[in-house]
Amino acid sequence: MSWTKKILRVNLTEGTCEAEPLNMEWANQYLGQRGLGTKYFVEETDPKVDPLSPDNKMIMATGPLTGTLAPTGGRYSVITKGALTGAIACSNSGGYFGAEMKNAGWDMIIFEGKSAAPVYLNIENEKAELIDASDLWGKSVWETEDIIREARGDTDVRIAAIGKAGENGVLFACIVNDKDRAAGRSGVGTVMGSKNLKAICIRGTLGVKVKDSKKFMEASIAARKILADNAVTGEGLPTYGTQVLMNVINETGALPTRNSKDIQFEGASKIGGEAMLEIRESDGKANLVSNAACFSCPISCARISQIDPEHFTVKGKPKYHQPSGGLEYEAAWSLGAATGVDDLEALTYCNFICNEQGFDPISFGSTVAAAMELFEKGKITIEDTGGIELKFGSAEALAQIIEATAIGEGFGVEIGRGSKRLCEKYGDPDVSMTVKGQEFPAYDPRGIQGMGLTYATSNRGACHLRSYTVASEVLGIPEKTDPLVTDGKAGLVMAFQDATATVDSSGTCIFTTFALTMDDIAPQIDAACEGEWTTERLMEIGERIWNLERQYNLDAGFTGKDDLLPKRLMKDAAKSGPAKGLTAGLDKMLPEYYELRGWSTDGVPTDDTLGRLVL
Ligand code: SF4
Repeated sequence: MSWTKKILRVNLTEGTCEAEPLNMEWANQYLGQRGLGTKYFVEETDPKVDPLSPDNKMIMATGPLTGTLAPTGGRYSVITKGALTGAIACSNSGGYFGAEMKNAGWDMIIFEGKSAAPVYLNIENEKAELIDASDLWGKSVWETEDIIREARGDTDVRIAAIGKAGENGVLFACIVNDKDRAAGRSGVGTVMGSKNLKAICIRGTLGVKVKDSKKFMEASIAARKILADNAVTGEGLPTYGTQVLMNVINETGALPTRNSKDIQFEGASKIGGEAMLEIRESDGKANLVSNAACFSCPISCARISQIDPEHFTVKGKPKYHQPSGGLEYEAAWSLGAATGVDDLEALTYCNFICNEQGFDPISFGSTVAAAMELFEKGKITIEDTGGIELKFGSAEALAQIIEATAIGEGFGVEIGRGSKRLCEKYGDPDVSMTVKGQEFPAYDPRGIQGMGLTYATSNRGACHLRSYTVASEVLGIPEKTDPLVTDGKAGLVMAFQDATATVDSSGTCIFTTFALTMDDIAPQIDAACEGEWTTERLMEIGERIWNLERQYNLDAGFTGKDDLLPKRLMKDAAKSGPAKGLTAGLDKMLPEYYELRGWSTDGVPTDDTLGRLVL
C-alpha cells in the first residue's frame, strides 16, 4: 500500500495483455510514476533505440498517491524515448484518467512492440483486452472518446487517446485524456501513434488502499488547509489559472516575443488571465466560462473557455460552439506572444485544435514563431508555405498553419517536425529556440536567469516543469531571489529539479508546491505507503531519479555539450525591461551546477555519485 503492486504488460505485436507483480525493491528506491516508470524503462529499453521503432517502449505510470484523496492525487505520467528529442521523455497529465487506472488495480501499464492494425486497450478492473480500432483511425481525440464511450455503454469510463497529429507523425503529438488534459511534451503521442495504439479506455472500481487511513486523512486535510490559505493556490490559480502569469512575466521582462527577438510583448494584456474575464461587447459573455479541477484537486487551476462564434475574427474557419479547455499560460504565450498574435479568440481557437487533434501548443507555437522569422528573412517563401503569408502577428496565418499541421498537409508537415529540424532544413539553425531538440517555454532566461540553467540541463529538453525557479525568482516562493543574477542559481535549480522529480513520482501535481514543502508532502506519503518516508528520503529519491535520467541520456548519445542554450539568448542582449542589456549567464552557472551534482567537468555523474545514489 498504496501501490496496487500490479503491472499490466501489453505486447502489441503479439496482442497479449498480462499481469505481473510490481518490483517493490524499485518502488522503494523510485517511489512511483516518473521515477519508477523511468527505472522500468531504462532497465528494459536500449538507449540507442529509434523512438519510433517497435522496440521503444511506452509506460503509463501512476504514483502511490494517485487515486487517493491526497490533494491533486490524480496524476499519471507517460515515460518513453521522446519522438521529438531522442532523450528520455516523461510527460505528466491530470484529469481523471490516472485515478481510474489506479482504481482498476494497476500501478503501471507497459506497452511494447507494435500492433499490425489500429487497436485500443480496454480495461475493466483486472480484465484487459485489445480491441480493433480501425474505425477510429483518422478520428480526432474528441470523436474517439465519444465513440468509445458509446461503444462501452458506460458514461463513467475514462479515456486517453491520440488525435490525427499522433497518427500523422507530428513529432510533438501528445496523449489527451478527458478531452483536454494532456501528457503534452516531447512527442509521447507520436510514440503511441507509431505503435498503432489509438486509445486506452479504463473503468476501475476497486478502490485504493492506504497504510494508515486516519493518519492519511489528517495529513491530507492539513495539506488542503495550507493550499486554501495560500495566495497562489487559494486565490490566484483558481481565479486566473496559470494565465495569472501573463502580465507578471511581461512586466518582469521575460516574455519571449516574436521568436525571442523581443522580451516584452505589447499585446500581453489582451491575451492574459484578466482579458479572459472581460465581457465581450459582441455577445455579452467572457472568454472564460468557468474554472475546472482534476481529480481530488482543491486548486482548480484548469480553464474552460468559449469562443464567440459570431465575433471570431479568423474568417472561414470552423466555429466551435462548445466550450473546451484553455487557455493555459504556456499555450497563450506560445500561440500568442511567441508569434506576435494578440487575438484572444484566435488563440483559443488554436488551442482547441491542439486539444482536439492532440499536439503540444508550446512546441507548435514556438515552431511557427521560428518559421515566421525565417519567412521574414526570406529563407522560407510563400511558395514553400503554399500561399500562407507567415508573418509575425497574423492570426489568419496561425489558424491556417495549425490546421495544416494537425492533418499533416502542405507546409504543416514541416511545422510538425519541430523547430530544430525546420531551421536546419532552411539553413538557419540558430533561429531555433530549442534545447536538446525541444522548444523552450514562456520564460526568457535573459530576464529570469535560473530558467536558463533549467532549460540547458533539463533531461527531456527545454522545459519549465523540470525546475520552476520562476517560483523563487519572480513569485518569492519559498524565498525571493533576484531573477537578474546568476549567483546561487546552480543550487536553486538543483533543489527544484530534485524536489520536482519526487513530486512527479508521487501522484500529485507540481502546482501544490507553490504552497506545500516536502515537509507537508512526506507525511501524506508516509501515511499511505509501507515503510518510513521522510523529507530526506524523498529528496534523495529525487536526486536518484535525476541522475538515472541523465545517465540514460548519456548512454543515448547526449553529452555535456548538449547542455546549451540558443545562441540568441547568450549573445543578443535584452532590448527592454528590467533585463535590458543582459544576456543569459549560463556559462557562469553550469560549472558550479556540475560540481554540486557530483558530476565531472563535462557533465558525467562520477562513480562516487552513482555509488552514493545506488545507481
Ligand atoms: S492544480 Fe490545476 S493542473 Fe494541478 S491537479 Fe489541480 S486543476 Fe489539475
